[in-house]
Amino acid sequence: MRWLICSAWPYINNVPHLGTLVGSLLSADVFARFLRLMGEEALLVSGSDEHGTPIEVEALRLGVDPKKFTDESHRYIVELLKKWELSYDNYTRTENPIHKEFVQHFMNKMLENGYIFSRNIVMPYCENEKMFLPDRFVEGVCPFCGYEYARGDQCDKCGTLLDPIDLIDPRCVFCGFRPTFMSTKHWFFDLPKLEDKVREWLKNSRTIDENVKTYCFSLLDKGLKARSITRDNKWGIPAPFPGAEGKTIYVWFEALLGYLSATLEYFIKEFGREEGLKKFYDYWKNADARTVYFIGKDNIPFHAIILPAMLLASGEGYVLPYKISATEYLMFEGEKFSKSKGIGVWIDEALEIADVDYWRFALMRLRPEGKDVNFTWREFYRIVNTELNDDIGNFIHRVLTFIYSRFGAKVPGIKKLASEDEELFSIVKHEFEEYKNRMYDTRIKQATENILNVARECNAYLNRREPWKLIKLSKDEAGSVMTLLVNIVKGLGLMLAPFTPKASTKLWRMLRLGDEIPRGALRRAFEIEIQEGHIIEKPMPLFRKLPEDFLSTINAMIRDVRKRINERRPPYLRF
Ligand SMILES: [Zn+2]
Ligand SMILES: [Zn+2]
Repeated sequence: MRWLICSAWPYINNVPHLGTLVGSLLSADVFARFLRLMGEEALLVSGSDEHGTPIEVEALRLGVDPKKFTDESHRYIVELLKKWELSYDNYTRTENPIHKEFVQHFMNKMLENGYIFSRNIVMPYCENEKMFLPDRFVEGVCPFCGYEYARGDQCDKCGTLLDPIDLIDPRCVFCGFRPTFMSTKHWFFDLPKLEDKVREWLKNSRTIDENVKTYCFSLLDKGLKARSITRDNKWGIPAPFPGAEGKTIYVWFEALLGYLSATLEYFIKEFGREEGLKKFYDYWKNADARTVYFIGKDNIPFHAIILPAMLLASGEGYVLPYKISATEYLMFEGEKFSKSKGIGVWIDEALEIADVDYWRFALMRLRPEGKDVNFTWREFYRIVNTELNDDIGNFIHRVLTFIYSRFGAKVPGIKKLASEDEELFSIVKHEFEEYKNRMYDTRIKQATENILNVARECNAYLNRREPWKLIKLSKDEAGSVMTLLVNIVKGLGLMLAPFTPKASTKLWRMLRLGDEIPRGALRRAFEIEIQEGHIIEKPMPLFRKLPEDFLSTINAMIRDVRKRINERRPPYLRF
């Protein structure tokens, strides 16, 4: 079994905020870490989506080359993702040559197979900029409600979907001049031709989630329309079709192919072209391969309809999505994240406020599975201080300090377990089984419940069993209890490892089990591997509480951090 884990490619005109991170980049990393710890073959890919209108326009406005803009931004983001302990095997970008070549080859296949056709359409053209204007760069008066600043694609006042030609007194957003409407040729993806095949695939898939299916069936029932896959942008991948000189591929279509090209690039770099291509096929043309996508719910149509349709249209026999894990929205203190209003926290700011492990754990506790979730500082504070510190951290520390101080750091070994000890162990193992099932099913937030259950059960057990009293009655019995518990500590640390990789590694070393947690270790999480005579290190607390005045000072802290961080960002990513 091979797993390819794909997370949506962030568009690189912004630093991602917590809401972008939670469903795609971070969820994918936690899932990939889990699989590796289970000994599975897993590859994690993503990258920067850097072409298209918003960046081209921003670069034009600032008078810089868009490539310079994205070079600096990509470098900054890659550094940040490392700080977030995101373990991407390949975090690449759409400017990489393998991607460009792959996209052109793929598009030609779609054309050859009869899924791409061309047609003349009328588009607004600005004589000043000498360019066709994308829909949203034309403004004018809404013909329905009279709103003066309606955009070419939609009126924000009355919500009506528009075409630029509908606007009364249309004007170019750059220069304010009236555009002319000219006929120009574009290439279209013939989606209606693939409607039945996509529907069949969705219907027969036993692994695609119901929420994804329901959403897609409602779109399919309305009927799919051919989608234009070329643009008049200069900043993009040249469309390879005969007669399409000067046109580029619409970013959405090429960025989706990044999942394939990033896999290919990874293997070519590792093994060279010939061998690399074979390895690539192992992940993309092998019935054993499972591709899992981590996205926000707004990306469902592109991943569950358009991507599968493209894969089918290529005729290459690429595997269709095994699972699409689509999260709902994360809100911030009851509001939508907004850069212009400064609502939210951006991922470079967050690390100045708390340790990366705390963020990773808290965000997965708040992962919007099945419904929108509201991030609040109060909830963050509670998760870090109560769950991570009191429930999990304290249990681990109690066990290790007891062994260290009462047994001279030497694990006493199991002589005999009482029925209540056996009972605890079976509860723990049951939680672990459920944890694994949930993780494989990408119900990551639910799996964190099992971690907490283990810690809470063990804390309650410690209080009942009172080894500090027991040791006076029977050193053997207390020793057996503590040996069982130190093994549970090991297992708990492994269950946590996809979430808190730094703390789990620290614990692994404290237990003197090695320098790094080996691949596959999670499979044996609750086997009694720490036995009589094993020496542990002097225990140090794994987590620290957030200070008591955290909630009363956080807003001032954010203001300060934002100012400081903003100066460190590359110019194009500044607020
Ligand atoms: Zn309107
Ligand atoms: Zn203009």
